[in-house]
Amino acid sequence: MNFKWQCERCGKYYYAEPKECSNCGYTVFNQKGTEKKDKRWVCKLCGVIHYKKPSECSHCGNTEFKEEKIKEENSEEKHKENRDRIKQSLKHILFIAIIIGIGIIFILYI
Ligand SMILES: [Zn+2]
Ligand SMILES: [Zn+2]
Repeated sequence: MNFKWQCERCGKYYYAEPKECSNCGYTVFNQKGTEKKDKRWVCKLCGVIHYKKPSECSHCGNTEFKEEKIKEENSEEKHKENRDRIKQSLKHILFIAIIIGIGIIFILYI
């Protein structure tokens, strides 16, 4: 399982444990599993994004947040692609089955 580290102060994510946050210089990080998150909270005042619902903004202390849904990138398109691929392989299998069928009929009736 992959882990990532999130800065406790500004919420910036790192894929390897950093010595200090390149964004705010903080040195405390939370290690997290990379489970999918579908929501985020954007501070209405400073725009800092939080991936866990905060009681107050870690950056400016504001308590109003805009809840946003994180859209999975191109997930629908990927589904479509997969479906097309399955359809194509089914056609391919059907084609082979017909060829084999014709072959069997040819052998049986000669
Ligand atoms: Zn930071
Ligand atoms: Zn803020």
